[in-house]
Amino acid sequence: MPKTKTRVVVALGGNAILQKGQKGTYEEQLANVRRTAEHMGKMILSGKYQVVITHGNGPQVGAILLQNDAGQRYGIPAMPMDVCGAESQGLIGYMIQQCLREVLVEGGRPDIPIATVVTQVIVSKDDPAFKNPTKPVGPFYSEEEAKKLAKERGWIVIDDAGRGWRRVVPSPDPKDIAEKEAIRQLLEAHVVPIASGGGGIPVIEKDGKLVGVEAVIDKDLAGEKLAEAVDADVLMMLTDVDGVAINYGKPGERWLRRVTVEDAKRYLQEGQFAVGSMEPKVRAAVRFMEWGGKRAIIASLDHATDAIEGRAGAEIVR
Ligand code: ADP
Ligand code: MG
Repeated sequence: MPKTKTRVVVALGGNAILQKGQKGTYEEQLANVRRTAEHMGKMILSGKYQVVITHGNGPQVGAILLQNDAGQRYGIPAMPMDVCGAESQGLIGYMIQQCLREVLVEGGRPDIPIATVVTQVIVSKDDPAFKNPTKPVGPFYSEEEAKKLAKERGWIVIDDAGRGWRRVVPSPDPKDIAEKEAIRQLLEAHVVPIASGGGGIPVIEKDGKLVGVEAVIDKDLAGEKLAEAVDADVLMMLTDVDGVAINYGKPGERWLRRVTVEDAKRYLQEGQFAVGSMEPKVRAAVRFMEWGGKRAIIASLDHATDAIEGRAGAEIVR
């Protein structure tokens, strides 16, 4: 079936679900998600866009890991990281489904279905990241505690920027979305899919099976793979800043509205974007444009609708 609407993969940042300084109660998260759903709803109700939603899960999966840890005191076995990732997709997907449904009902479109897909993202077992874990996950520990856990559980721990000790896991590059056919069929049936949450559950292919691994995939890079998988026109990454800057936070800071792929690659090389935050967004935008995407946007959540109309945020262009 030919597409009649512009297909947009929206990658929601952490602030879409939890604001800085909040504790992370269910009520707080639901209130944030409701606000986020209003932005998504506006796009959907305009009738111009077919939206696919993906999202981060850092604080949520961090809490689930801690809960699993604490539960061991009661004799409840801790679940592996991939399972915790799957749990977080359900938790966040549920909140988005509820809030977005509310917004669509209020907008007179109770008929638009929404569904969360528990999504596995395939990575290569030979990814160099497995030899060099860099992504901090879960709680902070004292040096002594951290070293004890490392010995007991085979973890790798690091001193995280002087804030305390933390476990680090590999952050491999996403290769493919295991559920892409299911997600495509949902789109054909006019369902709003929520997919690849938290960068997806990292899995490797082994003897014809998919096996979960202890790793974390960047949600923007996974979102880009999702955008390729659904043949999206637009990849829109929504965060807490309205675009990208060079010399960010330094003298000569300059916010960019349009960046060519060529310039973006040069800035990436120069290290203009912080690793693990803005860098993967710009990299995802570059990949999407090189793959053949029409538009790659980085904007603030509050300016989502302006950004898609070209009035806010930054765009990586060919
Ligand atoms: P998200 O949860 O949305 O992925 P991140 O914290 O990972 O959020 O990334 C957004 C952050 O990237 C911004 O809050 C900003 O502080 C930071 N950042 C780092 N480098 C830059 C840059 N060059 N231009 C703009 N923002 C940057
Ligand atoms: Mg991020």
